[in-house]
Amino acid sequence: MTRSPQKSTSGVAREIAPDVYCLGPHGRTQTNVYFIRSGSLWALIDAGWAKDGPHIKKAAECVFGADTRPASILLTHFHPDHAGSALQLARIWDCPVYVHPDELPLANGDFAAIAKYAGPLDHWVVVPLMRAMGRRRREAMLARSSLSDVSRQFEPNAEVPDLARWECIPTPGHTPGHVSFFRASDRVLITGDAVVTMKLNSVSGLLLQRPGLSGPPRYTSWSWRVVKESVAKLARLEPTVLAGGHGRPMTGDETAGALRAFADRFSSGDARLNLKNGH
Ligand SMILES: [Zn+2]
Ligand SMILES: [Zn+2]
Repeated sequence: MTRSPQKSTSGVAREIAPDVYCLGPHGRTQTNVYFIRSGSLWALIDAGWAKDGPHIKKAAECVFGADTRPASILLTHFHPDHAGSALQLARIWDCPVYVHPDELPLANGDFAAIAKYAGPLDHWVVVPLMRAMGRRRREAMLARSSLSDVSRQFEPNAEVPDLARWECIPTPGHTPGHVSFFRASDRVLITGDAVVTMKLNSVSGLLLQRPGLSGPPRYTSWSWRVVKESVAKLARLEPTVLAGGHGRPMTGDETAGALRAFADRFSSGDARLNLKNGH
């Protein structure tokens, strides 16, 4: 049976599949981060908003013990609701932050890359404001959020660093180097913003935190055509657990069918019905 999303009631991470812990959905944007155990190691997938660091660290200690530290932090993409606490946590834990090679320039604060891959919101609002700031102020601001001291790139379509049995699935479109993570042995799929399990693309969906499958937030997506290809690619993986960056993860026998049906509607354009307030 496919379970529908509900609000999280505590700051404790839940085990949603063997060795996969979900912290969230958290806050107004119903954000999730994931702790993945692999042998004696563990890794953090995504790092929430900038204010979420202490909350994430505390939840990790509940799962893995006091003073625990991960082998690495892995980011699905470099947006402030997924990478917000990455730098802070990487410094506390003294661990690297891995991103896809195509996401690395964004993570390292390269303004030319930010302008090139801007979604509508960045294109019309953020990039013009940053241009108006002047180069010195802009570079100082970008340097403050840059991950360049801690960032590394991982190999696309290969095993994930420090996580045996997990592979990195490139799912670009929302951002150029967006990735998902997949454990084929039991078909657990972590999708960041490539597919989410709440209605992110309508104002009422966001305010009421409505459950349901959705593509990435359109205002902040670089290429909608590429987004659709990535949604179709994820559906072909036929997950038994669909764990997105927002909304309560979906588990059970009907998960693969629900994602396939959504992907069909999405690629044929019916999903635009969900986007009437989104662009
Ligand atoms: Zn995003
Ligand atoms: Zn997001």
